[in-house]
Amino acid sequence: MSAINDLYQELIRDHSRRPRNHRPLPEADHSAEGHNPLCGDHVTIHLKLADGIVREATFEGTGCAISTASASLMTEAIKGQTLEQAKALFRKFHNLVTGEARETSDSPNLGKLEVFSGVCQYPMRVKCATLAWHTMEVALENEAQPVTTE
Ligand code: ZN
Repeated sequence: MSAINDLYQELIRDHSRRPRNHRPLPEADHSAEGHNPLCGDHVTIHLKLADGIVREATFEGTGCAISTASASLMTEAIKGQTLEQAKALFRKFHNLVTGEARETSDSPNLGKLEVFSGVCQYPMRVKCATLAWHTMEVALENEAQPVTTE
C-alpha cells in the first residue's frame, strides 16, 4: 500500500511543481474564476469548445499543491472529452475525493485522477481538490462571475 501512496504523492508533487496547461488561453470561449477562501487557492479555468467537445483546457492562478496538481491533471483529463463526459468525470472525481465512491462497488476508473483518493481522509483538502472542477463546471455554463466552494 505504501508504495502506491508514494507513487500518488510523487504524481501530485510533480504536477504541483510543473503544472501542465498552466497558461492563458486567448482563444478561450469559456472561462471562470474560482476561489477557495479556506486555503487561499485561486484558479481561473479557460476552455475552448467546438462541436460540444473540449478542444483545449488551461488554467491560471496559484494555490496549494493539491489544488494546483488537481487543476493540472483535470485539464489533461478533460481535453478531448464531450461536455457530458467532462461533467460525468467531475461527478466520479467528486465521489472519489469525498469518499462516497467507497460505498459503491463501482470502480471509479479514473486513471491518474485516482491519485486524489487519499484526499477523502482530509475533509479540509476536498475543497482544494475540487476547486478546479467546480470552476470548470461554471466555465461550461459560461457564467463569468467568480465562484467559491463555500
Ligand atoms: Zn488548497
